[in-house]
Formats: sequence, C-alpha cells, structure tokens
Amino acid sequence: MSELYPMLSVEEALERVLSHFHVLEAETAPILAALGRVLAEDIEADADIPPYANTAMDGYALRAVDTFAATRDNPIRLRVIADLAAGYVADQQVTAGTAIRIMTGAPIPAGADAVVRFEDTQFEGEWVSVQEEVPPGENVRAAGEDVRKGAVVLKRGVRLRPQEIGMLAGVGRALVRVTRRPRVAIMATGDEVVEVEAPLAPGKIRNSNSYSNAAQVLRAGGTPVMVGIARDDVDELSAKIRAGLAQGVDLFITSGGVSVGDFDVVKKVLSAEGEINFWRVRMKPGKPLAFGRIQGVPLLGMPGNPVSAMVSFELFARAAILYMQGVAHLGRPTLEALLMDEVKHKDDRRHYVRVMVEQRGNDYLAYLTGEQGSGILSSMVEADGLAILPEEWSSAKKGSRVQVRMLDWDMGPHMQGLSKETR
Ligand code: AMP
Ligand code: MG
Repeated sequence: MSELYPMLSVEEALERVLSHFHVLEAETAPILAALGRVLAEDIEADADIPPYANTAMDGYALRAVDTFAATRDNPIRLRVIADLAAGYVADQQVTAGTAIRIMTGAPIPAGADAVVRFEDTQFEGEWVSVQEEVPPGENVRAAGEDVRKGAVVLKRGVRLRPQEIGMLAGVGRALVRVTRRPRVAIMATGDEVVEVEAPLAPGKIRNSNSYSNAAQVLRAGGTPVMVGIARDDVDELSAKIRAGLAQGVDLFITSGGVSVGDFDVVKKVLSAEGEINFWRVRMKPGKPLAFGRIQGVPLLGMPGNPVSAMVSFELFARAAILYMQGVAHLGRPTLEALLMDEVKHKDDRRHYVRVMVEQRGNDYLAYLTGEQGSGILSSMVEADGLAILPEEWSSAKKGSRVQVRMLDWDMGPHMQGLSKETR
C-alpha cells in the first residue's frame, strides 16, 4: 500500500515543499524589535562613521613635525593651550610648539595631526615634554574609517543579529523594513493526545509536539498560532483546520495521523477540501510526510512521534519559514566529527542520529544521546546536533567521519562554505 506513494530524497521533498512558498511582504519595525528578523531593504550609511577624525587615546594632540628628533635625553617641550573632552570641538588651533590635552573620542583639533598618549609624556606646569618622535596619524581615527557615507552597510536578506542592530543605529535608522513574520498554525491530532494541563487519564499522553513545533516556529522567526488538538475524526479535524485557517496563516502544521494506519483522517479532509500529496522521504526518523494545500494554504503533516515531528520540522518547515522571510541560506552549518558509537542495521534511508558534540584537541567527537527510537524525546533534549549518515552506508562504525547538523546554530553571513549540506 505504502508502495503507491513516491519515495523522495530529502532534497527532492524539500524542493517540492519550497515550490509552494513565496517571500512575504515587508513591514516597518523599530530596530530592537527587528532582532532575528530579515532585512527587506538595503541599508546605506547616511554619514561617515566616525563622522570626524578623533583620538583613539587620552593624550596630547600635536603636530608630528614638532616631535622630530625627540629622545629621552633630548625631549621636546610643548605648551599646553587647551583641554578638550569628547563631545566638544576645540576653539583653538594647534600651532608650532603647542599641544591640546585631549580625551578619547574628541575631534582632532585643527592644526594637529597626531596624538601622544599620556603614558609617553611628562607634564609640568603648562608644559608637556615628549620623549620620542610621534609619527603623523599616531592614535588618530580617520573620519569614515569604519563606514563611508553612501556605502551599503547591510543587504536585504540578512537575518538581523545584535551587530546588525548596532549598525542600523549607527547609520541613524530607528525604524527598518523587515519581512513580515510568517504565521504558522499548529495542530495536534490523536484521540490519545491531551492538553498540557489536563490530568493523565489512562490511555492518554500529553501533547508535546505542538509545543516543540511552536517553539521551532519562534526560533525560525515565525508566529505560532495554536489550534489545539483534533480527535481522529474527519468532521472534527475539518472544523479545526477551518478554525485555524480563519486566523489567517501562511503555513499549517499538523502532527500525527500520517503513518499508513491512521493517515486517512488527514488525507480525507485534505483531498475533500484541498489537495494532498503524500510522500515517503528517504530519511529516518520521519519517513512519512503529508503535504498539501487547503484554501490555498500549504499544509505540512508531520509524523506523530515526538522526535520525527521535530526532525521533519527542522528539515522542511523551518526551511519554508525562513524562505518566506527571504533568507538566502535555509540550512544549518554542519561540522565534521568522529562518530564515537556504532550505528547498526542501517537501511537505505539517510539517518539523522541525535548526538552530543564534544571537542577534543583538533577533533569534534559525536556521541549518540542514547536510545534512538523516534519516541524518545529525551534523546533530543541531550542533543547538540544531528549526525547525518548517508543513504549509501549500510552501517556506521565507531570512528567514522560524519557531518553533524548543529541544531542551535544559524548560518552566519559567510558560513555557506562550512556546510556540505547547503539546505
Ligand atoms: P501517529 O503518527 O498519529 O500514529 O502517532 C505516532 C506516535 O506519536 C503515537 O505513539 C502517538 O501517541 C504519538 N503522538 C502523536 N501526537 C503526539 C503529540 N502531539 N505529542 C506527543 N506524542 C504524540
Ligand atoms: Mg495518531
């Protein structure tokens, strides 16, 4: 029966999923609220940073030429004509034989071209003596040395980190255009599944999937819309899906009810009221994946087992949520590690094995987090990443070199090269 459904590689399944999404529209946000969101415009500098030449040290602003041939035995003496704090502009010029006492960040006074640090001088009355030559430009930060006026400092598609927020402030932007957060409906299915606060009656389990998936939505920059739990009943499922859609969502995520036995409920509703694709993906965990559209909204049906639901989300839903925000690189960085435990009985699927990663010397070591059953959520709790065991491996021996997809790392601006797995 399951042979009727096409078996796709992870890449094929991802490509098919992504073809149903587009980049969402932009909106304006205060810069602090834009942390973690995706820039929808190129940002140009409105002025040089720093805006004027200034001193990098506390010291004396002087003319370098005046210190020519100064030595410890033959210091030169300059008359200190003024005192300048950061935030003010000198109203006097530095002329031959004079200096201005100056604090870090204060503008270099007219006439001066170098600053000598306090530590390298001696001060007496209104005179400062300099005991060595000070080269022109010493301790001077040039105007525009960080950023030039008009330069593009941030490009559209960047996911904003603290340093980008600082740069936005630095170029005078209090508000910024970012892509709207994708709204993602989250629904659990199953007669056995009960809400977190509900008593654990016999035969019942708590709904953990909706919360791990909703947290994954938040991490990816989306807004979860909690739709609750639908029993394995066509009418109830249909009503709950409609209620979720009525809240205006860009993606609908369900968990459970997609294994071949009880898959029919989601399938019936989707094919009656929308369209359904059901795929087997050549991966473990997470082989069954339902995908469809209902009222024009893409729906991803995750398997019910808590690890499968999280791993399927990590590979497919997360990519779709990033894609909708206009992010260029949809994967995670991977690192190469030595697998420290044997994995036996591998079939021809790509295995995503939960590992903890430890650094020893120049190597990363990846240890299994224990039992790898797809219901063992505690093995995710222990995990730093997913070791990727390729389809063509029949088993993985201790000491094999594996790529580990790091679950808590986002792609940095230049990390693409680090990742063998690009998505
Ligand atoms: P299913 O895919 O519906 O056959 O479910 C597979 C397994 O995952 C079963 O043991 C379910 O009880 C369990 N499961 C399904 N939904 C959830 C959920 N929301 N939270 C935790 N476990 C679940
Ligand atoms: Mg079920």
